[in-house]
Amino acid sequence: MQTNTTVIVDSGRALLVDPAWMPDELAALARELRERGITVVEGFATHAHHDHVLWHPEFGDVPRWASARTAELARTERADLVAALGPAFSDDLVHLMGRVDAGIPAFDVELIVHDGHAPGHTALWLPEPRVLVAGDMLSDVELPLPFWPDDVPAYERALDALEPYADAARLVIPGHGNVGTDARARLDADRRYLTDVRRTGRSNDPRRANEGMDAEYAHLQELLGRQP
Ligand SMILES: [Zn+2]
Repeated sequence: MQTNTTVIVDSGRALLVDPAWMPDELAALARELRERGITVVEGFATHAHHDHVLWHPEFGDVPRWASARTAELARTERADLVAALGPAFSDDLVHLMGRVDAGIPAFDVELIVHDGHAPGHTALWLPEPRVLVAGDMLSDVELPLPFWPDDVPAYERALDALEPYADAARLVIPGHGNVGTDARARLDADRRYLTDVRRTGRSNDPRRANEGMDAEYAHLQELLGRQP
């Protein structure tokens, strides 16, 4: 699992997006922020999956924001999210997981809320540097994952919502995969994958070769095979 944390810094104060994800990585991130003299003043979670709502005590007791739907799901799905963490997570990390409220960061970011990948999923757009923090969308290593719930149309509407930002982006930061300058090409590849599987039942998307993706591909084939 290739995971990204985004740290948006303004004059030494940081908005921390989706800190992730194993305990040693969270500790290393806290150490690096300290060494660089960066103070976390706010957090943001792009969606209510266990690897996107984490926190570390050293990040501090600061406001942690998410969309209203994400904040609601972080509460109502808490038992499942905790179970997904596994045994490596200490009690304090488990306690801090998912403690997000509905709200908007004070930083100069635009929130793009949609229901692709997860209900209430939120991308962040940084207008001046033209950076798109995509959450679990627009990955170069993961296929589109519209599986919670199984709502492919919502995923396609999410791609529509992201399109103008992908066109304008100088940089795209996915939750999993590589930072890239190819946001629009990724969006086109995601649309092509979904369209190909719907129309023909197949796709030759090269991301199928990546770990775990064949099962996701099979699930989408089954899902779209059942739909008219
Ligand atoms: Zn996710």
